Amino acid sequence: MSDALPPGSTIGILGGGQLGRMLGLAAARLGFHVHVYDPAEAPPAGEVARHTTTARWDDAAALTAFAQGVDVITYEFENVPTDALDILESHRPIRPGREALRVSQDRLTEKAWLADLGLAVAPFAPVNDLDELNAALGRIGTPAILKTRRFGYDGKGQVRLDAGTDPAAALAALDGAPAILEGHVQFEREISVIGARALDGRVACYDPGENRHEGGILRETRVPATLTNPRLTDAVLVAGKILNALDYAGVIGVELFVTDTGLVVNEIAPRVHNSGHWTQAGCLIDQFEQHVRAIAGWPLGDGDRHSDVVMENLIGDDMDRVTRIAAEPKAALHLYGKAETRPGRKMGHVNRRT
Ligand code: AMP
Repeated sequence: MSDALPPGSTIGILGGGQLGRMLGLAAARLGFHVHVYDPAEAPPAGEVARHTTTARWDDAAALTAFAQGVDVITYEFENVPTDALDILESHRPIRPGREALRVSQDRLTEKAWLADLGLAVAPFAPVNDLDELNAALGRIGTPAILKTRRFGYDGKGQVRLDAGTDPAAALAALDGAPAILEGHVQFEREISVIGARALDGRVACYDPGENRHEGGILRETRVPATLTNPRLTDAVLVAGKILNALDYAGVIGVELFVTDTGLVVNEIAPRVHNSGHWTQAGCLIDQFEQHVRAIAGWPLGDGDRHSDVVMENLIGDDMDRVTRIAAEPKAALHLYGKAETRPGRKMGHVNRRT
């Protein structure tokens, strides 16, 4: 463990949302300091960080000063601009590494990379204009989903195409952004594997969680997922294969569709993941601490599931229920300290032991 950062070292986190906040809390528990970098004023993670830099992603001086003041750099979202990463990486290691960001920043690159690895993905084709969309529809058919290649999250930047949908209107809805058409996967359920890989290459995966989305936003994750043992093994093997191929350090979220013929990879997120929040109540070492351990060169912790959990996201007006939830037995509430409640905005979550 010669690469291990000692307690008292500083972890730099790019992005100060709720994931950065929970990473910060886990880092503090292990005696690390946290420095958050976010273009927005007063980000949720700022409240649990020793330092916060408020600066844009193209502010070279701020990026340089930030990097020089930390020992390792990690991130809570995958869309940090490449130029910013170049500056940061010239000073300090970025973990997980650049390959994971390159692959996951662009849905087309991601799908092609996963397919090259021998993993099953939905049929897909690049779409830059109406001709390409019509050609892709001819090959893939409907139902299909047109997605922007970059910057999509929580179902944003996606249009479903059915037999009667006008392709031109679907394309217009994405404002001309480079896109990918994906065949609609007929899935039985959606699961995700939260995996971790240490600097020395050791891999540990949490039990797969079963996810339910509403309106493109994750509503609930439950463990254990309804899965046969062979499928459960398949899911963990898929995550391990991805982690090794990326020579990864840190926690990853791998979203999978369970179909009657096997697992299909939907997408990967090179960071802690909303569908891994259940680990806070279900495991001795949760995904946030596991990530901090991995990027700090520490041994991975015990991620065995000791309890069954249902994680419910608290979105928008769900905040009205928090005092009632706080009174529930076997429920642990996590609020993100966001000043403003908006429809569709993730405000917190609750882990219920079942
Ligand atoms: P994504 O942003 O790609 O994770 O998509 C959000 C949600 O839309 C997924 O969790 C699925 O419920 C659904 N979805 C996305 N892509 C597909 C697909 N190719 N086939 C079926 N459902 C999909």
